[in-house]
Amino acid sequence: MNTVPLDIKENHPVRDLTTFGVGGTVPFFTEVVSENDIVPALDFAKSRNIPIFVLGGGSNVLISDEGFPGLVIRNGIKGFKSQTEGDDILVCAGAGEDWQQFVDRCVSSGWQGVECLAGIPGTVGASPVQNIGAYGQDVSQAIAGVSAIEITTGGSVFHSGEECGFGYRTSIFNSTSVGRYIITAVTFRLRKNGRPSIQYGELNKLFEGIQDVTLAQVRDGVITIRGSKGLLVREGHEAFKSAGSFFRNPIVTAESFRQIEALIDRTGGCANWAWPLDSGDVKLSAACLIQCAGFARGCRKGNVGISPKHTLILINYGGATASDVVDFAGEVQRKVNDDFGVFLRPEIRLVGFPPLCLEKADD
Ligand SMILES: Cc1cc2nc3c(=O)[nH]c(=O)nc-3n(C[C@H](O)[C@H](O)[C@H](O)COP(=O)(O)OP(=O)(O)OC[C@H]3O[C@@H](n4cnc5c(N)ncnc54)[C@H](O)[C@@H]3O)c2cc1C
Repeated sequence: MNTVPLDIKENHPVRDLTTFGVGGTVPFFTEVVSENDIVPALDFAKSRNIPIFVLGGGSNVLISDEGFPGLVIRNGIKGFKSQTEGDDILVCAGAGEDWQQFVDRCVSSGWQGVECLAGIPGTVGASPVQNIGAYGQDVSQAIAGVSAIEITTGGSVFHSGEECGFGYRTSIFNSTSVGRYIITAVTFRLRKNGRPSIQYGELNKLFEGIQDVTLAQVRDGVITIRGSKGLLVREGHEAFKSAGSFFRNPIVTAESFRQIEALIDRTGGCANWAWPLDSGDVKLSAACLIQCAGFARGCRKGNVGISPKHTLILINYGGATASDVVDFAGEVQRKVNDDFGVFLRPEIRLVGFPPLCLEKADD
């Protein structure tokens, strides 16, 4: 492998590299645009004995006001290759490709499998990390495998979809192997001429009575719905600076659910807030718990608050610091726990904070 001179920036501000728009400076920052850039970057960090954090589009992170005490590597590896396999098409995309552009390219090529994931900000390389999902589709359903470089050894690895350990907003990359890899490319298995996936309530409603709905119509429908909820990062949506859903939807046992249901009913309740799982457990709407704990849409404390359009989105209304966000999130978490006995775990990745910030010791 040829090595290339590294462009390391020192004391680099990262706030504007995130959609939340908060965070301090980091001592070292570099952007990799090919696999050849990675090993020198790893060597740089090793020679200084500093940790590495891999950044994509910065749409699922909250970086502390003190920054991250090491090297931030932004992944800008591009590339797009496709190969037909029967009725399927295998598409391999560089980790630094923009997710929305990737979805557009697949949809306009007539490849089915990611159309409901339109409008999710970020990069292709981050898509397997939390197994992004929306409107009835999870990216794990379309991922054939993930190529990565192991940070400690610099060696290349390939994980098949099964080996990625996908679950609800989880994979090995944000659980058992967090911080272990730099993902360089993702391979998707999509269907040529497949019919779009219309399984989600709001999409069903949008296309009720319409025959032969196309992939592009579903993509555009998803974008419209997302826009109405402040879930887009693009021109015209600058007022909604967030990192997406702040908390995961919690999963509780059937017995706990019955107790929580009684408490929720007492507050007036919400429509469609609990979904039974095959395991017997029940997934709850974190948004409903937050609302019933007294945090209405649009409520705010200083520069941080709940989005006026979506209860699960915490917003930087302008000028917020990372500690303002953590304080507000902690308040929400405590109130939900006090009222309903449910601990809301963050969906976003906290970077540069002390261990267990907004987490529980037994997690
Ligand atoms: C308005 C808004 C709406 C959103 N809607 C949704 C939604 O509907 N569904 C959903 O699932 N998510 C949603 N998100 C969250 C976010 O868009 C996704 O998690 C996205 O995949 C993050 O991509 P990113 O490139 O910005 O990753 P970053 O935020 O930069 O990083 C996220 C995590 O992935 C890791 N990572 C990133 N790239 C790599 C790589 N190449 N190798 C190894 N690790 C890497 C980082 O270290 C970090 O832990 C939303 C966010 C916003 C702001």
